[in-house]
Amino acid sequence: MNSTPAKVRKDIIQRPKGTQDICGEDVERWEYVESLCRLQLQSAGYQEIRTPIFEATELFERGVGEGTDIVNKEMYTFEKSDRRLSLRPEGTAGVVRAFVEQGMGRWPKPVKLYYLGPMFRYERPQAGRQRQFHQFGVELFGLDTPAADAEVILMAMRMFEKLALPNLSLQINNIGTVECRERFKTGFKALLAPQLTQLCADCQTRYQTNPLRMLDCKQDSCKAIYAQPTVKAFLETDFTSEDCQAHFAELVRILDALKVPYQRNPYLVRGLDYYTKTVFEITSTNLGAQNAVCGGGRYNRLVEDLGGPETPAVGWALGMERLLTLVGDLPKRTLDFYIVHDQPAEAFQVAEALRASGYHVEVDLSGKGFGKQFERAAKLNARQAITIGEAEVQNGTIRVKHLHSGEQQATTLTDLLSQLAPAKQP
Ligand code: ATP
Ligand code: MG
Repeated sequence: MNSTPAKVRKDIIQRPKGTQDICGEDVERWEYVESLCRLQLQSAGYQEIRTPIFEATELFERGVGEGTDIVNKEMYTFEKSDRRLSLRPEGTAGVVRAFVEQGMGRWPKPVKLYYLGPMFRYERPQAGRQRQFHQFGVELFGLDTPAADAEVILMAMRMFEKLALPNLSLQINNIGTVECRERFKTGFKALLAPQLTQLCADCQTRYQTNPLRMLDCKQDSCKAIYAQPTVKAFLETDFTSEDCQAHFAELVRILDALKVPYQRNPYLVRGLDYYTKTVFEITSTNLGAQNAVCGGGRYNRLVEDLGGPETPAVGWALGMERLLTLVGDLPKRTLDFYIVHDQPAEAFQVAEALRASGYHVEVDLSGKGFGKQFERAAKLNARQAITIGEAEVQNGTIRVKHLHSGEQQATTLTDLLSQLAPAKQP
């Protein structure tokens, strides 16, 4: 064996561009927010779904839509045994694939799911935009009711209220069905035909393939054209069917009754092809240029398009990184007890009994003197230290010290546990 290990190249110990290590205090914030999101959804009967991080590339081509930025430019695609696979750029396509493959169409309706995990998009890294980022998402399958739309929106808004997110705005719009959009296309194209050459190349392509998506353009010059009063007035005249309009009116009525503030935004179309009727986005002015924290909508055709039974659905996804930048100070996890000892077996027994009652306990593992162990307890900001030495083991006691007040008492484990009641939930 070579005794001098080869020098490690610097780029090997650098994380890839656009990715993040989540550790230290950050990871506590992540865990707090993740569990709050989970509890919110679980308390309304949503169940987690975990799907693979890679899927057939074609699933995303069909599910997200050819011609979208995600599919055209942003996917990490690789080939194995003649199969093209891609790292998932978003969660819905995989969840819908699982819905079809697992026969969830036969489950009692509605099927209410949530997911949480990393997504991958080859984008230019910048504030609020990473190549590996995390989404928390919700999908509700099997119902085409305004109440279903209202519930998923409510889930997101209530979560954000609990997290006290600042300067939020919920924007909603009704983009109708494919048939409604045919009517929209004709009028919209006629209106913009004279200015076609002034639009960016992408919008000129969208003009031919999917004019609605022109409204999602991020170029200022295009945005200025779409902001003209004539275009604005056209967008404000509802081009959707009576059924779509009634659906939207009922959604708005429910939101009003629940005092969920929203703005109707006729420019909101969302970048993906699969939406029908309701679309929405939750933004915060505290986020800067990448201001969307959550986006979603109804997609009544996607399950069928991916080979499943006709199944209406509605859902959303939020970006965890952007959400976390909006969350202020969170309660810190406290260390209830630090066990100072030279009797490992007894120390672990006491720790296990306290942990079983829901307390957060650390046992000293250093084997150093009691003085050093108390220093460590103070560094960790433990509330109380329990000392277990030879004398304590012999007479069956423990010594408990409140580290903030300095107050001390000798007691037994049984007495300590009964004093501590009511115990915290584990
Ligand atoms: P944007 O307009 O910001 O590009 P998007 O329409 O591409 O957003 P969605 O596909 O709707 O985003 O994803 C839902 C959420 O995921 C976004 O609202 C955002 O919070 C987050 N998100 C999307 N792309 C990224 C990224 N590259 N880095 C971090 N978060 C992201
Ligand atoms: Mg994007």
